[in-house]
Amino acid sequence: MDLTKLRAAQTIWAARPLKERGEVLCQFKRRVYERAQEAAELINSESGKLIAEAKLMDVYPTLGLVDSLIANAGALKRQKVKLPGIAFAGRSSTVQSVPVGVVGVISPWNYPLQIPAAGVLTALLAGNAVVLKPSEKTPKIGAWLVDQLHALGAPVECVQGAGAEGAALVETADAILFTGSVATGTAIGRRCGERLIPCLLELGGKDPLIALPYADVAKVVRGAVWGAFANAGQSCASVERMLVPKEELGLYEKEIIRQVSLLKKGEDWGPMIDEIGMQRALEHSKQGRLLIGGAVEGLWMEPTAIVLDNATSSAWNEETFGPLLPILAYDNVESAIALANTNSFGLTASIWGPGAEKLAPRLEAGTVTINDCVYTAGAPDTPWTGWKQSGLGVSHGAWGFQAVTKLQHINTQKAQHSPWQYPYEGLDEFMAAGMAGFLSLIHI
Ligand code: NAD
Repeated sequence: MDLTKLRAAQTIWAARPLKERGEVLCQFKRRVYERAQEAAELINSESGKLIAEAKLMDVYPTLGLVDSLIANAGALKRQKVKLPGIAFAGRSSTVQSVPVGVVGVISPWNYPLQIPAAGVLTALLAGNAVVLKPSEKTPKIGAWLVDQLHALGAPVECVQGAGAEGAALVETADAILFTGSVATGTAIGRRCGERLIPCLLELGGKDPLIALPYADVAKVVRGAVWGAFANAGQSCASVERMLVPKEELGLYEKEIIRQVSLLKKGEDWGPMIDEIGMQRALEHSKQGRLLIGGAVEGLWMEPTAIVLDNATSSAWNEETFGPLLPILAYDNVESAIALANTNSFGLTASIWGPGAEKLAPRLEAGTVTINDCVYTAGAPDTPWTGWKQSGLGVSHGAWGFQAVTKLQHINTQKAQHSPWQYPYEGLDEFMAAGMAGFLSLIHI
């Protein structure tokens, strides 16, 4: 992959003031706003995602990303660092985040606008050029995103293809922002490690929802049903495991059946993207007692809830990535937390009901929501980060700039003398005369 032209364009882009780059992003926001319907229809045509969900989960969050990036752009400005103690008198330090150069963004198909836009816009605002490799399953919306930025003169290119093209990008880019499966992410992370380039990995999830005793059953179920079935369950942060108190299982079962029965095909729930994903979800759906759903027609799988009687099945332990809500009853809150944490993933978790605030920090996940679920990926000022197999690094907010910049420290010396330099004669007297700051510095 020849990046010569893009590297030249990056130098010019990075030299433009931050404010100007921010203005380009604002113009991009206006273009996307004006073309919201067109973008949603493109997403729908490639992935089957409902138009309403394409707007709610892809187009509108992309607009919000721009506002958040502009609001957090102060993190890209040169900042002073305080130097303690008299030993450093006459010196000053500043730090600055410098663009890495060309950032490779490799994205999945399930949020084919919002996810690549987050990476591309963050990298551009920080002064980088970008190569986007969208998923081979949603190439057109990837190209559309790049076209909108091209029209505004931003240094961004699109390469189409599958694994081979993604791997080629990993060989040439100066940093990689990857979102996708654990298997691909691990291979990319390994190669980035060998090349010693920064790499942000946003991977899968098997996110638990814990309903605490005496929670508002209707409210919890409303969250669980949306969290499990929105986008046909094809969200990294989908509710993929639901834990309810043993004594309240009957109440939850009834309410889930009631609420799921109200969902309308084609209006509230849509088709999956392909047969492979559908077969996996169908296979998982057969591992428990069927509560509701289970039928399949083409790529349309009904929102399906099953009740499990233990935590050993793949429906409970592996990412389903489809419209399936597996439910398990727990004996006490301690066992609920242990069950929630016994999983290789740690993307998000949610906890609902009385006492949730106190228990939330004990959940092993990068994001824990109390009395709500899933939605914080669309709240771009908040950090997005996966624990365990769910990823490495942080995106969104000011944190997101770290993966696309190098930190440069500049230290200036205006003093006559550096007290640690030769000769060492008189060192004890100097220490006695007031090196407390220096001593505390080296002992901390
Ligand atoms: P995937 O890993 O199959 O593909 C993702 C991207 O990587 C695609 O563009 C693909 O072409 C590319 N790719 C494949 N092999 C590659 C290689 N060897 N080198 C470089 N690039 C390669 O994932 P997917 O099926 O598109 O996405 C679904 C997965 O993504 C799920 O596990 C889901 O949980 C996860 N996901 C995570 C987040 C998050 O924020 N943590 C968000 C969305 C999706």
